[in-house]
Amino acid sequence: MNSKDTRTQFLNFFKGKEHKIVPSAPMVIKDDPTLLFTNAGMNQFKEYFLGISQPKSSRVVDTQKCLRVSGKHNDLEEVGKDTYHHTMFEMLGNWSFGDYFKEEAITWAWELLTEVLKIDKDSLYVSVFEGSKDADKLELDTEAFELWKSIVPEDRIIMGNKKDNFWEMGDQGPCGPCSEIHVDIRSKEEKAKVSGASLVNQDHPQVVEIWNLVFMQYNRKADGSLESLPAKHVDTGMGFERLCMVLQGVQSNYDTDIFTPLIREIETITGSDYGKNEEIDIAIRVISDHIRAVSFSIADGQLPSNTGAGYVIRRILRRAVRYGFTFLNTKEPFMFRLVNVLTDSLGDAYPELENQKQLIENVIKEEEHSFLKTLDQGLLLLDTIIKNTKGKTVDGGKAFELYDTFGFPIDLTALILSEKGYQLDEEGFDEAMQQQKNRSKSASVVSKQDWEVLLEDNEQEFVGYDMLDVEVKITKYRKI
Ligand code: ATP
Ligand code: MG
Ligand code: MG
Ligand code: MG
Repeated sequence: MNSKDTRTQFLNFFKGKEHKIVPSAPMVIKDDPTLLFTNAGMNQFKEYFLGISQPKSSRVVDTQKCLRVSGKHNDLEEVGKDTYHHTMFEMLGNWSFGDYFKEEAITWAWELLTEVLKIDKDSLYVSVFEGSKDADKLELDTEAFELWKSIVPEDRIIMGNKKDNFWEMGDQGPCGPCSEIHVDIRSKEEKAKVSGASLVNQDHPQVVEIWNLVFMQYNRKADGSLESLPAKHVDTGMGFERLCMVLQGVQSNYDTDIFTPLIREIETITGSDYGKNEEIDIAIRVISDHIRAVSFSIADGQLPSNTGAGYVIRRILRRAVRYGFTFLNTKEPFMFRLVNVLTDSLGDAYPELENQKQLIENVIKEEEHSFLKTLDQGLLLLDTIIKNTKGKTVDGGKAFELYDTFGFPIDLTALILSEKGYQLDEEGFDEAMQQQKNRSKSASVVSKQDWEVLLEDNEQEFVGYDMLDVEVKITKYRKI
């Protein structure tokens, strides 16, 4: 089944259960200082769960554009390395605001997956919250357990801990146990060797979580204690790309019709083949993923910039350019040429992409152009640094200057140095980075376009992100 039909089937199934189909909220959030990007379907309904406002319909269904690159949900480092975490993805969801609860949520999820979409029951596992011995002293979610027991054999029900199976909105507010559905797409032979049950929640690329059903039944009070919510809610989220992977009988989200047109175009433009070399494959996956995040963000009106959400988007775009530059030998702007393919496949479901196509292309092309120029200048400067280096270790402070002042990525510095038989003084680099962090902590408020936030929060988030980027890459390049 192609991805367009899958999306429609999901929405129509719940429409048939009296849900109102609502549009996705924007992916870029403009009015919430605690969140830059929508990272789950429930974000746009937060006020209903908090009782601040009343929904027009008590049952809704939608597909939500999400981005998980910062804060609580940051999957950036997984992207491209694994085959099922994206930066930008669609989350399919059905909601009950004080209407139906566990019984309907569980039975309908099962009906949709196994009867409508015809996923083999024997490839599915479900999880329930096992309870907790900590201050909350919560019991096993017996209600969900009994419901699942009437549907699946008991050995397919996995007991999940608080980390995986208890959802909280924050330190206070609505929370409750959840039940997840996982699918095992391994071959029969592999299934015979190791039980799928033991691989659930173990980050196995072929035993993946597809759907999370959250049952909001408590309110966490300011003193940390829990009380029962008078009106109970259901919040579900299913990864659209993962569902398509299962339904299209492929082993990776990147082998679905959502990604293959992008990958073919990258192959054509760069002359690289997908599926022959792991490093090239990672680069191609990263680029095909990041073009979606950047294009959707620009379509939402968030252009790359030096602050806030715009900065995150700029870094994602540059990250993709760098992967291309390093592994696919792309020295000219090329990502903007993928926008056409993207709008062809997603323009129907997200008309904002089609409407803003020209702008998206222009902005990406310009960004690519200026970053490639930075890379060129950086290469020249690096040459001079190397010439002035006595011995074989390049000063970390100098490398930091290149990174900080010229935006030249440190991973690239490390790679080039190692190719030329030099090494980077990493301690010196880390020290210079730390000093700069200390300096910027003293500033207090920074403009984030339409709203203001404390620099410290903002800073921590971005420094963490940069550092992670840097640290992971340096280790990677050392191995080459
Ligand atoms: P995982 O454990 O795989 O990281 P999660 O538990 O963090 O997923 P949830 O917050 O429960 O994910 O989100 C609901 C669903 O959204 C998941 O069951 C999964 O199918 C999908 N999903 C989550 N993160 C991503 C991502 N980065 N890319 C694609 N799909 C995702
Ligand atoms: Mg996750
Ligand atoms: Mg999970
Ligand atoms: Mg989950």
